[in-house]
Amino acid sequence: MHSLLPPAARTRVVARAGRLDSKALASVDQLILLLPERIGEKTWKQIPGGPKLKKLMAKRPAGSVPALLARLDNSRQTRVVAGKLKTADSTFDRLSLAAKLVSAVTDESPGTVGIAAIGFDSKTYGELFEPFITAALAAALPMPSWREKPKKPPIRSIRLLGLGEHWSPRAEPLRRIVAEAHGNHLARWLTAMPPNRLDAKHYTDLVRSLAKDHGWEFKRYSIDELERLDAGAFLAVAQGNADKTAGIIRLRFRPDKSVSNARVSLVGKGIIFDTGGTNLKPFQSMLGMHGDMQGSAVALGTLLALTEVETRFAVDCWLAITENRTGPTAYKSQDLIRALNGKTIQTIHTDAEGRMALADTLTLASREQPQLIVDYATLTGSCVDAITTRYSGIFSNRPEWHPALKRTGAACGERVWPFPMGQEFLAELESEVADLMQCSVKGTGDHILAASFLNEFVENDTPWVHIDLSSGEHEGGLGAIPGKVTGFGVRYTLSLLLDTQLGDNTAAGAAS
Ligand SMILES: [Zn+2]
Repeated sequence: MHSLLPPAARTRVVARAGRLDSKALASVDQLILLLPERIGEKTWKQIPGGPKLKKLMAKRPAGSVPALLARLDNSRQTRVVAGKLKTADSTFDRLSLAAKLVSAVTDESPGTVGIAAIGFDSKTYGELFEPFITAALAAALPMPSWREKPKKPPIRSIRLLGLGEHWSPRAEPLRRIVAEAHGNHLARWLTAMPPNRLDAKHYTDLVRSLAKDHGWEFKRYSIDELERLDAGAFLAVAQGNADKTAGIIRLRFRPDKSVSNARVSLVGKGIIFDTGGTNLKPFQSMLGMHGDMQGSAVALGTLLALTEVETRFAVDCWLAITENRTGPTAYKSQDLIRALNGKTIQTIHTDAEGRMALADTLTLASREQPQLIVDYATLTGSCVDAITTRYSGIFSNRPEWHPALKRTGAACGERVWPFPMGQEFLAELESEVADLMQCSVKGTGDHILAASFLNEFVENDTPWVHIDLSSGEHEGGLGAIPGKVTGFGVRYTLSLLLDTQLGDNTAAGAAS
């Protein structure tokens, strides 16, 4: 295993069938107890220590956190944090509540964390427990640290208690939750890596090692090969690098070796560090720019999660990896670039490098004619200006999908908001000397112009969804995720591909 990958020792999730009795409760150091908005007398009597908890819980409104901190009278003095769930909660509300309850139990040495519910129909436990397991895993999986002592002791294991007969310990839902957590974690882990540790060379080595572990075919388009292909848009950004470590990586996951074409291609922007280039960023704006590769990390994390759920359709993953540096060889304003698909670009602002690196990568991906391309990129500040860091912007060359794309976000809790794009907006990118300008001088609606620009490099009318990751970072965490880096997009894509009609249509015919 590559030394920059997350440590192998991962928090175990143990599902324990049977009643929620004293023995079950004494098996955990901390208990997250989920309660309905209104709780009948009978419900309280279902659990040991119930009457005591009832008293403490009496005046707590639903959704308040931490709703209760009490200790059970057992050998472990099990600490209880309880939360009343509102029936009207959205998935995002549930994920946020879950993060708060988990944060309350991880305040002190968490040890073994139990999750249990009373007063609900046990048939609904799959859906009910999901956000809480997701939040517990997100808090349990470590982030990169070179401190001598960790800031917080880790969660040792997560136990699901009192599952009854309806949700077996080996249930399918649990496998999906854990796979998604691993994918999201990989995305966050890589994004948080210091840029001198995760440089283009080490990132490439790490991806190669992951490919070996998971049976993905690995191909790297080196600088030399991209020069032969005339991939001028990617090369314009890469030419500022000190060496030839930049490149475009293609990974193939094939559940069935006889399948050649991918049903789904995931494409990610992997700018290792974005100085802004010749049009240099000021200090504050450059500080977080080691995270400008989050799009590629999300594509990779999604591929990992899809591999772990053993999806039946073929998936490709394309990573555009380079730095955006200053220096004598770096590209500059007014350069004339010819992209891989032959279109010419007049460069305007070197900090709009993401669309340059992605343009050729989208051309490569679309030439292989998958049923769907999804790309991820921390692409524009204007998307953050438009919808804050709570939502990500979504675009598609199939605008009729907008309602379904938005619904998917609401259903899974990684929320997106659709924007228009396309031909009409190219008027703002009209150039005297080239087929199009890289961006507009004014910068108004840059997220829309960036998507419209990228649209010009998707070939074969391949169905395409572009996610501008405005919620890739959110101060204090977002939904179930406890830290600033959110890994937004892994959960969304799993939901899009595995839970919706759109995903069904995309994957159709894959198993045959
Ligand atoms: Zn930039």
